[in-house]
Amino acid sequence: MQLFPYVEVRPIQYEMMDTIEEAIASQKCAILDAPTGIGKTAAALTPALEHALKDELSVFFLTSRHTQHRLVVDTVRAISKKHSKKIGVADFIGKKHMCGQDGVDAFRAGEFLEYCKKLRENRQCAFYENFGSPGKPSPKAQLAVKQILSANPMHVEEITEFSKGQVLCPYETAGLLGSKSSLIICDYAMIFHPQMRQSIMNRTKKELSRSIIIVDEAHNLSSRLRDMMSSQTSTLAIKRALREAIKLEDDNLIDALNDLIKGLEEFSNQFEQESIIAKRELVELIDGDVEMLISQLQRGAEIVHETQQHSFLAGLAEFLAGWMREDEGFVRLVNKYRFKKELNVTIRFRCLDPGIWTVPVIQEARSTIMMSGTLHPTFMYKDIFNFPKDTVEKSYQSPFPRENRLCLVMPEVTTRYQRRSPKEFEKIAKICADISNKVPGNVAIYFPSYHLRDEVHRIFSPQSKKRFFIEMPNMTKKEKAAFIEEFKACYPKAVLLGVAGGNFSEGIDIEGNKLKAAIVVGLPLEHP
Ligand code: SF4
Repeated sequence: MQLFPYVEVRPIQYEMMDTIEEAIASQKCAILDAPTGIGKTAAALTPALEHALKDELSVFFLTSRHTQHRLVVDTVRAISKKHSKKIGVADFIGKKHMCGQDGVDAFRAGEFLEYCKKLRENRQCAFYENFGSPGKPSPKAQLAVKQILSANPMHVEEITEFSKGQVLCPYETAGLLGSKSSLIICDYAMIFHPQMRQSIMNRTKKELSRSIIIVDEAHNLSSRLRDMMSSQTSTLAIKRALREAIKLEDDNLIDALNDLIKGLEEFSNQFEQESIIAKRELVELIDGDVEMLISQLQRGAEIVHETQQHSFLAGLAEFLAGWMREDEGFVRLVNKYRFKKELNVTIRFRCLDPGIWTVPVIQEARSTIMMSGTLHPTFMYKDIFNFPKDTVEKSYQSPFPRENRLCLVMPEVTTRYQRRSPKEFEKIAKICADISNKVPGNVAIYFPSYHLRDEVHRIFSPQSKKRFFIEMPNMTKKEKAAFIEEFKACYPKAVLLGVAGGNFSEGIDIEGNKLKAAIVVGLPLEHP
C-alpha cells in the first residue's frame, strides 16, 4: 500500500486495505462494518487511488454530510505531501450551495435549478458567462482549473471562493476540475439519483463503468435514498398555492386548485385517519390532465419567482411530477388531521425500496465499497441494497481496548412520548449532570429532538459545572467549524448539547482525545 498517508499503519488498516484492494482488483463489491477509530478514510482511499492512478479509473467518494468532505480532502493532502504526488481532487456540494450569486439560500432545490437555468438562458449570470459552457470552457476557466490543480487539493469552500474571485461559476469550475481529477468527493444523491448521476458524469467526463464508488457512513444511505425519492403535499400547502394563483388572477389555475382541494377533502371522508391511495385516484381528482396542470403551475411559479424566491405553485408542480412515476417500490398514502380546527389532508408517495436506486450503480460501477461503523449485520445491507452474491462482507473489531470502553445503560429513564413530563426531564437532567460533572474531560450529549434537549437543558443548566455548547439547527459550515474549535479549546470543561442526526452526531472528528464521553438520550431509531 504505497500511497498510505501516515507513518504508522494499524494492523486493522492493513486488513481493511487488503480487503478493498482485492475487491477492486476482482471488480467485486464490499460491505465493511468498520467501527469508528479504525481510520477508514485513509484505509479506503489508499487502495482505491492506487487502482485509479494505475488503471486510469476514477474514485467517487460519497458522503452524507458536508463536514465529512474535509477529512477526505485532508487525507489526500497528506498522501500528496508524504509521497510528493499530485492527485487531482474535485470536491462538490449542491449547486445552490456553491452558487456565486447572492441571496439564493431561500430557494428550494427545484426552484434554484429553475432560477439558475433562467439566468443562464438570459445570459444574466456573469459567473456562467465567464466560464463559457461545460462543453466549451473559456480559456479563463481552463487557466483557473490549472491553478487549482497545481495547488494543494482544495476543499469545496476554497474552490468556491477561488472561482468567485475569478468571476467563474464555482459549480461549473468544479465540474471542469473533476474532468481532470482522479478523485471526486460528493453527496450520495449525485451518484444514486439517476438524473444527477447523468449530470455529474457528463460534467466530469467520467464513466460509471470505469469508476470505483466508496460510500462512507453507508448506514445513512437507505433512509437518504428513501427520503430523496419521497414527497408530500397537503391541502394547506395547496391553499397557499391557491393564494398565489389568486394574486396572479389566473382563473384556470384557481379553478383547478379549488377542485383539487375539494376533491381531496371529499376523498378523506372515505377513511378514518390514514389510507392507501392509488396513483389514478389522485389523477382522477385532477380531471385526468395532470401534465397540463403541471405546466400551468410551472408558468404561475415563474411569475411568482420574479418577486419572491419560494413559490407554493412550484412545490405542487414538483410533487405532481413525482406522483406520476412508476409504482414499483413506492407506497402512496393519504391521511387527515385538524390543524387549528381546519381540516388538513396530506398526500404523499413514499419510497420503500432503496435497492431500486442502488442496483444500477452497483451493477455498472467497477466496484462499490460501502463502509460504516454501523453496518451490522452486513447481510442485511447486502439484501437492502441488492448487492450481488459474491460481495465481500467483513466486520472489524473496535480498535479501542474493551477495558477503555465503559458502556452504561440507564433503564430508569425514557423518552417515550407517553412518559414525557417535567418529572421525567428532571430525572434525565440529573443523570446528565452527574455523569458530565464526574467525567474528567469534555462530554457530548445527544437528544432525540431539539425540543426535548431544550426541556432537559433548562433543568440541567444550574446543576452543571461545565460550559454548555448548544447546537442550533441550520448552522452554517463556518459556524459549525468555529463551534467545534471552541468546544475543543474549552477542554476539559465543555458539554455539547446536540441532537441525534443533527450537525454534530456523526462525521465530525474531535481529535486529540478532546471528547471523553458521549451520552445518548433515547435511542435514535428511525420511524418504521
Ligand atoms: S450558473 Fe453558476 S453562478 Fe450562475 S446561477 Fe447557476 S450556479 Fe449560480
